[in-house]
Amino acid sequence: EIVDLEDLPGVGPKTAQKLRESGIMTIEDLAMTSAHELIEKAGVGEETAKKLVELAQDMVGKGFKTAYEYYESRKNVERITTSSHALDDLLGGGLETQSLVEAFGEFGSGKTQLGHQLAVNIQLPKEKGGLSEPDKVAQAVYIDTEGTFRPERIIQIAKGSQIDPDSALRNILFIRAYNSDHQINIVKRLPSLIHEGRNIRLLVIDSITAHFRAEYVGRSNLAERQQRLNQHLRDLLKLATVYNIAVYVTNQVMAKPEGFFAIDQQAVGGHVLAHAITYRIFMRKGKDRTRIARLIDAPHLPEREAIFRITEEGIRD
Ligand code: ADP
Ligand code: MG
Repeated sequence: EIVDLEDLPGVGPKTAQKLRESGIMTIEDLAMTSAHELIEKAGVGEETAKKLVELAQDMVGKGFKTAYEYYESRKNVERITTSSHALDDLLGGGLETQSLVEAFGEFGSGKTQLGHQLAVNIQLPKEKGGLSEPDKVAQAVYIDTEGTFRPERIIQIAKGSQIDPDSALRNILFIRAYNSDHQINIVKRLPSLIHEGRNIRLLVIDSITAHFRAEYVGRSNLAERQQRLNQHLRDLLKLATVYNIAVYVTNQVMAKPEGFFAIDQQAVGGHVLAHAITYRIFMRKGKDRTRIARLIDAPHLPEREAIFRITEEGIRD
């Protein structure tokens, strides 16, 4: 049953409005917010903030679940095909909802191409590897920070996935993020888009780290950068789990100081990013224009590799 924020004791229309404006739309959102965040966002006092979060947590059930209940809720996890069997297998059957999936790798390794592919494939019917239902097309939000999104490429990929190119374009909500604040705020506004009735099932951020890296330069700014990135990642994880959305982000690499081989390239973002990500894929160029994806750090899957290609029609085996 749906309970409104106003149903919480101590929450009047004004506070509820403030909460919604800051992206906290439901009791579930509130339960996953820290008191500290609430003080900042809704302008309530410390005592009230603590009480509200506690009440919300009580309502969604103390936080503890049996493993069986968790197993049951995991049954709502759905999967999106990448259009490569090998890549789907690597991910345990495609890209999962309720997860954060990160691709990192050198320039030209296919990170952006996979983002385009997923934004198209999400629109496929469920039996074909997408998340559309007969009366409800699944939509993607594409946040571009690097200026590499290409509608022309969407058209090619849509044709390759047997989707009408015009409707493929119409079901991707595209936005260019100009700095990290903008990027953070876009993500915070997504719940209200969903509550307005948009069937958003995929979020692509290409790339998640570029702005953070460019804006917070030097050692002295590292702590602040990581803290802001951490908050952003928590927003993303919340979005993924509360709304059963798949989140795909790309990331750049930097050479490890002691590195020598390709795998010695390191993802930007440090431990903060590594810990928040559910599936981390390292991408690189292989022989004969192939691409190699290596799964790193997945919760229940072995570390292994898949080979795929980038063709005119999109990602293929
Ligand atoms: P990055 O990892 O830097 O985001 P991209 O995903 O942009 O890399 O991959 C770029 C590569 O994708 C190009 O070098 C090219 O090999 C391939 N590619 C892009 N468009 C096409 C296309 N229409 N047909 C075939 N290959 C393409
Ligand atoms: Mg790219």
